[in-house]
Amino acid sequence: MPELPEVETVRRGLVRSIVGRRVESARLLRRDVLRTDGRAGPAALLAGGTIAAALRRGKHLAIVAQDGRALGVHLGMTGQLLATRPGASAGRSDHTHARWTLEDGTVLVFRDPRRFGGLWSYPSLDALRADRWADLGPDAMSITARSLAARLARGRRAVKAALLDQVALAGVGNIYADEALFRARVHPRRESGSLTPAELDRLAASIRSVLREALRAGGSTLRDYAGTDGSPGRQQEKHLVYGRGERPCVRCGRRLATALVAQRTTVYCETCQGLPMSYPHARPGGLSVQGERRARGRTGTRSPNGKTEKIRIR
Ligand SMILES: [Zn+2]
Repeated sequence: MPELPEVETVRRGLVRSIVGRRVESARLLRRDVLRTDGRAGPAALLAGGTIAAALRRGKHLAIVAQDGRALGVHLGMTGQLLATRPGASAGRSDHTHARWTLEDGTVLVFRDPRRFGGLWSYPSLDALRADRWADLGPDAMSITARSLAARLARGRRAVKAALLDQVALAGVGNIYADEALFRARVHPRRESGSLTPAELDRLAASIRSVLREALRAGGSTLRDYAGTDGSPGRQQEKHLVYGRGERPCVRCGRRLATALVAQRTTVYCETCQGLPMSYPHARPGGLSVQGERRARGRTGTRSPNGKTEKIRIR
């Protein structure tokens, strides 16, 4: 699923390919992809307008015309905005739900096989901000320790759940939450309000650096994500924990743990991201997070000396 670096890569592609150009024609090929009520005609897709800006907040995009009209775009899980230069052969056309032709011959398409994404039409950017973006927290790319502390303060939920909550912080998803927590040496199950000022400093800095590094690599492509020119990201090759469950920790060499935190598969190092001793499952030889979750009469795992083994829980 595209997170902040992927969506920002798409935004920069839109700036290069469509900003400053007039939309000659626009067509919705699948009506329910336009999520706002009202007419789904070309005007809802900015036809006739000159594109003034492509903006982003968290994982959300907005394309704004000079006459004020605004189109919100969310890539969902599998969404792509692909721009084809005049004269170049078009890329994939299956699952194309909307198509724009610009005055210079550039063709932009929105395709989204799983259709968790969509388009939202508004008469103005203010109207879009008051609706789609109203509940979004501060953008994660520039989050400060102070702002992060205010967002996590007094919270009892797991810090990973708080990072995924777009109301608390906009732009972080499962990949970069795990990567940032590992770099900050914070356990994903820590209560968000229990982080010390030093940990909040490290976590805010890690979020910013993980996102910036991923942006430099054009994002992470696990399946569908691509920039507007169709090229995949390269950051997936550099993930330190995401997708590396059971493999050795790059820092300490012990096997990385996998658990379900905030309903998402979570990979972390039980040694480098240790829980404070006050947590019940932080005792040496105690149950791992995974073991705790299963601890009602079934099997689980425990991690003496950082090695995970299956155990039966009595
Ligand atoms: Zn480690």
